[in-house]
Amino acid sequence: MILTRNYKFRLYPNEVQEKKLQNNLAVCRWVYNKFVEHAKNGFVSRNDCNYYLTELKQAESWLYNYHSKMLQAVSTQIDGSQKAIMELSKKGHKTGQLRFCRYSDYRTFTYNQTGYKFEQCGKHRYLHLSKIGHIEIRLHREIPANSKIKQVIVTKSKSRKWFACITLDIQEPLIPKKIFCKCVGIDVGIKSFTYDSDDNHTPNPRNLQKMLKPLARIQRKVSRRKKGSNNRLKAILHMQRVHEKISNKRKDFQHKLSTQYARNNDVVFIERLEKTNMMKNHRLAQSIADASWGSFVQKLEYKCRMLVQVPARNTTIDCSRCGNTVPKSLAVRIHKCNKCGLTSDRDYNASINILQKGLKIFNHDKLPQELRKVTLVENPNGSMKQEEIIQFVG
Ligand SMILES: [Zn+2]
Repeated sequence: MILTRNYKFRLYPNEVQEKKLQNNLAVCRWVYNKFVEHAKNGFVSRNDCNYYLTELKQAESWLYNYHSKMLQAVSTQIDGSQKAIMELSKKGHKTGQLRFCRYSDYRTFTYNQTGYKFEQCGKHRYLHLSKIGHIEIRLHREIPANSKIKQVIVTKSKSRKWFACITLDIQEPLIPKKIFCKCVGIDVGIKSFTYDSDDNHTPNPRNLQKMLKPLARIQRKVSRRKKGSNNRLKAILHMQRVHEKISNKRKDFQHKLSTQYARNNDVVFIERLEKTNMMKNHRLAQSIADASWGSFVQKLEYKCRMLVQVPARNTTIDCSRCGNTVPKSLAVRIHKCNKCGLTSDRDYNASINILQKGLKIFNHDKLPQELRKVTLVENPNGSMKQEEIIQFVG
């Protein structure tokens, strides 16, 4: 089986190389904006874009100084954006036209199939990009030997760091593990980021909340500086660094937690999140955006052997032992059932509900203690729709 993976490595260009990289971005943006102008009167296919590119090259011979595949990748990009817009308008959304891209918004270019090479010189590793040169790269993980590099995407972050995203095709012998033994239900929340049916909970790191004060300070600083001045630029760069730090902390936390769940469990059940509804609560909107459960679920999705999203309806108010409905506001942290007498943490109760609902999707329904004996069998076809391919055996 061939797996496609993306690895992201930090690049350390020297001053000359950084200028060249920046120059490449500028050229790609120039071509992009030419295409946008070209596509003004309706859809332009990728081939049309490429024809137009050859015309452009004849008129502007300096374009030959840049890697041709990189420029062609821009037409792929335009093609994709146009198709995305058409998709949206087909679905009845209100759509506009493609817009010209600002200097500060254009921050990636792509080397597809050719023009890149990895080289080693002593301790240092280099990424060789055609027409740019050998750029020092930190390979914090090894590139698998049985893999083929499909493309390299060079990105500049807002705080002016350079990265290379490498797309790999990895040949991997598929050994399907047929037996699912360990299942877990996860409830996500604001107080505890996750509370699972094994009674483990992880407190919410509140990365944004902790940084609000320094952020406000730096934002004030930016607004006090004169527009267009160097000092304002410096302050903006500082602000971007703070934002990047927050988002890095969030990613780090979510990666560690999701990896832990994926390693220790065969099947993970999680509630299906209705984010747009949740964001309507103005008091909680910031906390919800900060927690960003969506990206957590995304990480679980590609790490877990099997992830099942369960409808979230009534998971917090139903009693996990007897099914009695116990309505409670957000402030009530303890679930107390007056029918069967069950007293537990509110989120723990919810996670067990999620687990039970999830198992019902698999056509069976047992208490969590007995789950360890349960055997579910995966369809050898290995398709992704859980409900269809799993059948209860033991
Ligand atoms: Zn009860």
